[in-house]
Amino acid sequence: MVSEHYIRRAVFPGSFDPITLGHVDIINRALPLFDEIIIAIGVNTAKNYMGTLEERIAKIEAVFKGNLKVKVTSYKGLTAAFCKKENAQFILRGLRNTADFTYEQTIAQANEKVNGVDSVFLICSPEYSHISSSIVRDIARNDGDYSSLIP
Ligand code: ADP
Repeated sequence: MVSEHYIRRAVFPGSFDPITLGHVDIINRALPLFDEIIIAIGVNTAKNYMGTLEERIAKIEAVFKGNLKVKVTSYKGLTAAFCKKENAQFILRGLRNTADFTYEQTIAQANEKVNGVDSVFLICSPEYSHISSSIVRDIARNDGDYSSLIP
């Protein structure tokens, strides 16, 4: 058996409000890189969510049902602290554009310097670069059809 030390474990943090085809694409493409991916919903009490935490977890679990490498959970506080607790060496993030990159850069550098947790970025597939959870929520609020954006 491979010892715990050698399990390559990544945390994919986000709000997933709701999970979109963009998220699913990143997770599917990251699966060959890691032994385990923990999809972790960050709980921020100051934020108003469209879906409850339970609904968001249930949806993600349904999408990855049967995939033993994917775990779904939630956490509070710093993502890097959660990674330490879970023995995850990596944070997985998706990049859609330079705005995403600019936002992620300093966070990734701080996480590596302060906590020794490295970030792994995948550039999103072009067909998904326009998709965000906030667009889905906007369309939903206005009774539009967002079915082509979510799994
Ligand atoms: P956050 O509030 O932390 O940005 P999200 O749930 O919106 O949480 O996103 C989680 C991760 O998924 C982030 O790394 C984000 O860049 C990535 N992501 C979101 N939408 C897409 C997409 N369409 N393609 C690729 N990555 C995406």
